[in-house]
Amino acid sequence: MSRKRLEGKIALVTGAASGIGEEAVRLFAENGAFVVVADIQDELGHQVVASIGTDRVSYHHCDVRDEKQVELTVTYTLEKYGSLDILFSNAGIIGPMTGILELDVNGFDNTMATNVRGAAVAIKHSARAMVAKKIRGSIICTASVAASLGGTGPNAYTTSKHALAGLVHSACSELGAHGIRVNCISPFGVATPLSCRAFNLQPSEVEANSYAIANLKGIVLKARHIAEAALFLASDESVYISGHNLVVDGGFTVVDRSFS
Ligand code: NAD
Repeated sequence: MSRKRLEGKIALVTGAASGIGEEAVRLFAENGAFVVVADIQDELGHQVVASIGTDRVSYHHCDVRDEKQVELTVTYTLEKYGSLDILFSNAGIIGPMTGILELDVNGFDNTMATNVRGAAVAIKHSARAMVAKKIRGSIICTASVAASLGGTGPNAYTTSKHALAGLVHSACSELGAHGIRVNCISPFGVATPLSCRAFNLQPSEVEANSYAIANLKGIVLKARHIAEAALFLASDESVYISGHNLVVDGGFTVVDRSFS
């Protein structure tokens, strides 16, 4: 049997009822972690827990736009499992599918509140718990290729993911003194409810589009591939990696398209 890479570690995953977060919960649990599944989709969240079928994984309602709910979720994690080693701050929305000329201010604010402030308060309360317990924890945020490219998403989403990358750098600088690592992952077009809804496509169509524009051929991108990156950053295999943006895009962002 293969070695369990998170044996006995305690993880909190936001946006864990679906897509990339759900895959990360499954992979973390398979690798020996205790996991709190945090989301606003209660029914789906409970289904994820029930399908894993162990009391090492439990659900807690958490809207990351509400700091109090985030704080209560961290408290729940500490009371339920006794500690907190890993935060996977993954909750996110795509927001309005518009550019700057059609800026929807309310949609913009909601996107920033979810994708940026939600991650900031999750880091704040998780890191406070880690510092108080002297835990050399790992914090991972789900950014996007839209954190470094301007043309891959709508305006609010792209802005929020650029800001999230800045948040990761800032938190990394501050928390390194406590032995806490902070990194992000930048996925590319994964077939999840988020991408299917945004582009009005079936999962197979999202997969086909990503395959067509990725540089890497011979493999179809799945949420599991992003979860594998989160597992690496959560585990001690990445013990000296902090402030890094792990791009998981099949070479999409580095290809010079002027030659294609
Ligand atoms: P998804 O819709 O399957 O999952 C997102 C989860 O976040 C959902 O379960 C949703 O309920 C939850 N969520 C939304 N708002 C929340 C809130 N306020 N509080 C708590 N939970 C909330 O989509 P996904 O593709 O798995 O997205 C996960 C992350 O990956 C997001 O941050 C997204 O921006 C990022 N991402 C996805 C892609 C992609 O192609 N799917 C690419 C780059 C980045």
